[in-house]
Amino acid sequence: MKLIDLVQKPVLTQPIYEPGKPIEEVARELGLNPAEIIKLASNENAFGPSPKGIAAAQKALADAHLYPDGGTFKLRGKIAEKLDLSPDQIVTGNGSNEVLELLGHVFLGPGDEVVIGTPAFIVYKLVTLLFGATPIEVPLREHRHDLDALLAAISPKTKIVFLPSPNNPTGTANSAEEIDAFVRKLPDHVIFAFDEAYAEYLENPPDLRPLIAEGRKIICFRTFSKIYGLASLRVGYGYTSPEMAALLNRVREPFNVNAPAQAAAVAALDDDDFVAQCREENRNGLRQLGDGFNELEIPFVPSEANFLLVRVGDGTKVFRELQRRGIIIRPVAPYGLPEYVRISVGTKEENARLLEALKEILPGVAK
Ligand code: PMP
Repeated sequence: MKLIDLVQKPVLTQPIYEPGKPIEEVARELGLNPAEIIKLASNENAFGPSPKGIAAAQKALADAHLYPDGGTFKLRGKIAEKLDLSPDQIVTGNGSNEVLELLGHVFLGPGDEVVIGTPAFIVYKLVTLLFGATPIEVPLREHRHDLDALLAAISPKTKIVFLPSPNNPTGTANSAEEIDAFVRKLPDHVIFAFDEAYAEYLENPPDLRPLIAEGRKIICFRTFSKIYGLASLRVGYGYTSPEMAALLNRVREPFNVNAPAQAAAVAALDDDDFVAQCREENRNGLRQLGDGFNELEIPFVPSEANFLLVRVGDGTKVFRELQRRGIIIRPVAPYGLPEYVRISVGTKEENARLLEALKEILPGVAK
């Protein structure tokens, strides 16, 4: 028997997630100096990591010979304190990505349907397919999730509805009022999976805690990878009902969040000045890029996150041309948006360099 005959079917048809290329790899491929490359491809925090977080992670390294706290006691306590919830409502993961996958382990199998917007963060679809369930994809409307269409797509087989707000790759959000009304209309057999990876960038973020307290089937995901600037440490969490958290914790790997990440996340939650400063800098960056795109007459989708979806004509070509100049962005053809690229907000200097490069490149690319 061949090895391949032993493989679970969904694994063979599973689309592969393509992350933004690391700086070192681009430098190697193109013979560039890594120090001169800028990465605006993965919606990381251009303003660096939380200083309090980094200091705590460094301290935690002294105990690197010990396993981390498998129950993430301090971190769950800190998150609970911040959100005014109970620690037994928190599930921590190796990035929020892992917590998304835990949902699949617990709830999804062949015959189940998962309702997702498209284009949206691709991992919802990957998790659905991995567990043999069926994604029901609902097109966005004017780049925003169409909540009525999502509701209409729900069937008796629907197990989960995913909603990211702001969404990746569009940067658009649904209002708190819209989301609240949407959740109240969901039938009782459906779990609402609300992805708040970029929620800290919103002016008026939705608050689903009262709906969780009412006993609705809701899980919200947050991450330390974005505004807290701790993407490389891989730490995120879900908050939900104690019942849901206990179910997800049953299938969680032991020691899934390493000790420096736990320590950094606890400290970063107290780094309010840093978060406020990043929010402010991000707004300035969005304005700088928006003004620049307007000047270059490049259409873009107004964003409420730390990145912008920009219509450049031939997205893959612009991606390649920028990369040759040491600027890594993200082509979004795999999201069904071949005319667009996604650009993360950089520092003031990085944004200026990107705009200069686009000015040079775009006349050569058909719009
Ligand atoms: N949700 C969304 C919408 C994202 O864009 C990302 C990362 N790009 C994640 C979740 C996962 O983030 P992490 O696993 O780093 O917490």
